[in-house]
Amino acid sequence: MNLAFISHEDCRLHQMGAHHVEVPERLHAITDRLIAAGLEMLLSHYDAPKATREQLVRVHHPSYVDALFEAAPTAEDVLVWLDGDTAMNQGTLDAALRAAGAAAYAVDLVMGERHHAAFCAVRPPGHHAERQAAMGFCFFNNVAVGAAHAMAEHGIERIAIVDFDVHHGNGTEDIVAGDERVLFCSSFQHPFYPGTGADSQAPNVLNIPLPARTDGAAFRSAVEMHWLPRLEAFAPQLLMISAGFDGHAEDDMAHFNLREPDYAWITKQLHDLAERHAGGRIVSCLEGGYNLSALGRSVAVHLDELIGHG
Ligand SMILES: [Zn+2]
Repeated sequence: MNLAFISHEDCRLHQMGAHHVEVPERLHAITDRLIAAGLEMLLSHYDAPKATREQLVRVHHPSYVDALFEAAPTAEDVLVWLDGDTAMNQGTLDAALRAAGAAAYAVDLVMGERHHAAFCAVRPPGHHAERQAAMGFCFFNNVAVGAAHAMAEHGIERIAIVDFDVHHGNGTEDIVAGDERVLFCSSFQHPFYPGTGADSQAPNVLNIPLPARTDGAAFRSAVEMHWLPRLEAFAPQLLMISAGFDGHAEDDMAHFNLREPDYAWITKQLHDLAERHAGGRIVSCLEGGYNLSALGRSVAVHLDELIGHG
């Protein structure tokens, strides 16, 4: 069964200035690598629809959604900064709406007959976006929009969200903490940006703070010890992934030493878990990953495992 691959040209129009690392070329790097790896023929391509206001306000405060629409510049070459590293240009609002809409559409696809798994190749990323705040390159929380859509429209009652980006998914935690229908698992370098997550108290949040220079062996043993038993017991009906690849050893954004086999390994664990409990249903949303070569290679192994060959 083919993997659904959801993206949109609008996602390339969002730019935050010449020296910013979160660039449109990230999506080109992924597409190029998937072609080179021979994976392209195993994908079914879909254009991401824009998220609706109804979908957005399930996870964001209505006044925050309104404020983003009002802040969006209409003139070319204008940047409106929302925090120190997060800015809107003329294309940002449409890109952010497509990125959030992709996650909801991906849920619709995996709840249907044709696809078990879907990957959202979108930007801007989402996992730092809180209920009422843009931050860390993120505007709408894509994975949270998808999860809320699954619960509201498809009657899903247990969703696991696994975030292996090198940064804590503070925005996702802000939105889902205390919601027992969601089990949120985030691994991240600590201490590091954004500084949250090490002392979270919510019973449905399972954070793994790890020190700089964490390698694949340490990452895998932490996942085996802290996440897998709890995920198994939770038995999610849908598995969602905040797939950030900025923990790669070649990525200068942070200081983890993960490699493609580590991303393949975690994806296989989640794929197998979804097979056991969720009818194989997985929705993965791109988050970070800033070394273009490492990003392309890591996404390729991630998708290879999502497709599965068993
Ligand atoms: Zn990140």
